[in-house]
Amino acid sequence: MKKNLIAGNWKMYKTPSESISFVSSLIKNLKNYDDRDVLICPPFTSLFPVSQIIKDSYVKLGAQNVYFENEGAYTGEISPLMLKDVGVEYVICGHSERRNIFKETDEVINKKVKKVAEIGMKPILCVGEKLEERENGETFEVVENQIKKCLEGFKDIEKLVIAYEPVWAIGTGKTALPEQAEEVHVFIRELISKLYNFEIAENLIILYGGSVKPENIDSLMREKNIDGVLVGGACLKIESFLRIIDYQKI
Ligand code: PEP
Repeated sequence: MKKNLIAGNWKMYKTPSESISFVSSLIKNLKNYDDRDVLICPPFTSLFPVSQIIKDSYVKLGAQNVYFENEGAYTGEISPLMLKDVGVEYVICGHSERRNIFKETDEVINKKVKKVAEIGMKPILCVGEKLEERENGETFEVVENQIKKCLEGFKDIEKLVIAYEPVWAIGTGKTALPEQAEEVHVFIRELISKLYNFEIAENLIILYGGSVKPENIDSLMREKNIDGVLVGGACLKIESFLRIIDYQKI
């Protein structure tokens, strides 16, 4: 059975010691679910200590970025082998902050997605339109282009997760309406069905991200094609992350 995925992207927040106390308390308060997985993506410096705390729990570990080579003279970069070795299962690729602040292109993201899967981890490919593109009616075109370019020559499709994250909703407090998100998720599933096949598309996990909060999680998760969420700001506080994980479908 396909499980929903509730993922927290900590961005550049929490030192290793803050991470340890946060995750210890998260685990203590976490309920058991059989229909959903929980994933946390701390900064690189917290991955190892966090991996030690979650190892006997069902919480999964993710990284926020990676380089697309195994090793070499790439000062300041992190190898996928290093991530795998500390127990990372998922890697966020092409987050809009990487695209916009660090100028990552679809071509670079394509290399990262392929490398992450090659090493045996699961890439979470982020796509989404900017406000101006939505207002110009270009949402589907932008999302289609990003997906086609970032998945060019990508065969390991069973490992892929896609996160639809409209840029205008990230960190702004403006959430897409559930029906706006659902419309794009349906579009993404149909596109994956055309590029790969129907079964792959049905099994694909498509996350929504953009100002997800305790107040809007239930209505988002009621949509048929929303298989989970990628949460930024609201995953940094235990109570709000726990409430998001504990979403109610009815
Ligand atoms: C994100 O970082 O992917 C994100 C969606 O952030 P926020 O929830 O803060 O909008």
